[in-house]
Amino acid sequence: MAFSYALITWNPLFSLNSTPTSKKYTTGSFQELSTLNNRTQIFSSLQYKHNFCSGSRFSWKYGESFNLLAFSSSNGNWVEVEAGARKEYEDDEFIVVNFYRFVFIQDPEEEVSKHLSFMQGRDIHGRIYLNEQGINAQYSGPSKDALAYVEWLKEDHRFSDILVQISPAISGHAFPKLKLRYKPSLVQLEEGISHLPLLDPSMRATPLTPSEWRTKLEAVNKIDNSLNTPKTNCILLDVRNGYEWDVGHFRGAQRPDVDCFRSTSFGLSETEVIASDPLANVDQEKTDILMYCTGGIRCDVYSTILRQQGFKRLYTLKGGVSHYLENEGSVGWVGNLFVFDARLSLPPSAYKPEISAAASGEQEVSHSFAKCYICESQVSELRHRNCANLDCNLLFLCCLKCVDDFRGCCCMKCTSAPRLRPVLPGHQRYQKWHTYRDLELQSR
Ligand SMILES: [Zn+2]
Ligand SMILES: [Zn+2]
Repeated sequence: MAFSYALITWNPLFSLNSTPTSKKYTTGSFQELSTLNNRTQIFSSLQYKHNFCSGSRFSWKYGESFNLLAFSSSNGNWVEVEAGARKEYEDDEFIVVNFYRFVFIQDPEEEVSKHLSFMQGRDIHGRIYLNEQGINAQYSGPSKDALAYVEWLKEDHRFSDILVQISPAISGHAFPKLKLRYKPSLVQLEEGISHLPLLDPSMRATPLTPSEWRTKLEAVNKIDNSLNTPKTNCILLDVRNGYEWDVGHFRGAQRPDVDCFRSTSFGLSETEVIASDPLANVDQEKTDILMYCTGGIRCDVYSTILRQQGFKRLYTLKGGVSHYLENEGSVGWVGNLFVFDARLSLPPSAYKPEISAAASGEQEVSHSFAKCYICESQVSELRHRNCANLDCNLLFLCCLKCVDDFRGCCCMKCTSAPRLRPVLPGHQRYQKWHTYRDLELQSR
């Protein structure tokens, strides 16, 4: 096969095939490469080596493979490796795609209509919001359509290097319909976010790659676990909601005392010190704040606020927990990852299928943090359910006994509400109310 020397913009739809092209390159040298564990780095090295193609975009078809040179950190030489476009999903397999980008969009309404016309004839459901500050997208669809949209978007230089998170949606669409429109705020926050300097990366936390994050976390936990050393000047901050923490979080992260991101106010209490505020009384100049959220966007937003508050040492997990699980597996993470779609929560293995049964042994022990909201006993499944009372609809964790005793409701009061739905079995979500209302009419 002929060599293709090319600048490959990092395309997370594909992963490197871990087979060297020929036997003259030992497995060792390739492993050396993969321990860099930062595929972006490999590719950006390529860019330096082959300046002539810098700025050009290399694309290739599913299932195609080609040769490329990659930089070996062991001997400083360029080694030939085979990059394969491993096809991860069949065309008709459903996936959920998440990405965002803060970038100035001159005419967001015009951009919205361009996107809408691309969607014509494509089977995509989800929430895709645009405004002058950029785009925030989470949607589901058969991989053929879902990935075509990403590919199309990446042809635009403003979006060419977006970090895309992909996860399986085994029960089909994870969103009821497509909402693609202009939205004044890409992220819900009480006071809005349009006034924040989101387009200026220096105002955000410093992004750490998953491996850098892991290293930093491990160092912090090591020091905090040994008795003789003082606690580190470091705070691990979960920037999500309390109920998200409840099904899974980084070991050592305190449960956020908020149930809605928009009201998150860490570090904002000035006169009154709130006990639950992990940033109260923190030295803004000297303390490392390690912040994480699901996909990175909430940290980008919230870190600009903390920056404005005077916090100096802000770090964030690039691409959020989903990117971390995809790259590092569940190391340092306990439980599942809460997601804002019909799937509600995903095990780490959804992001990195190689996570073996060996790792899940550790998982079982670590589930003990997940408690039934009603009786506080340990739950067997790390997944919320909605209260069967339509007018409550609270997302809550519930043990099997309480599901039974309370007929799928969150409390005794809800069990006597007028618009009760049947107890949902297993992984399902509730459908539209008329489904249950009509059932009830029929049974009368
Ligand atoms: Zn219970
Ligand atoms: Zn309820």
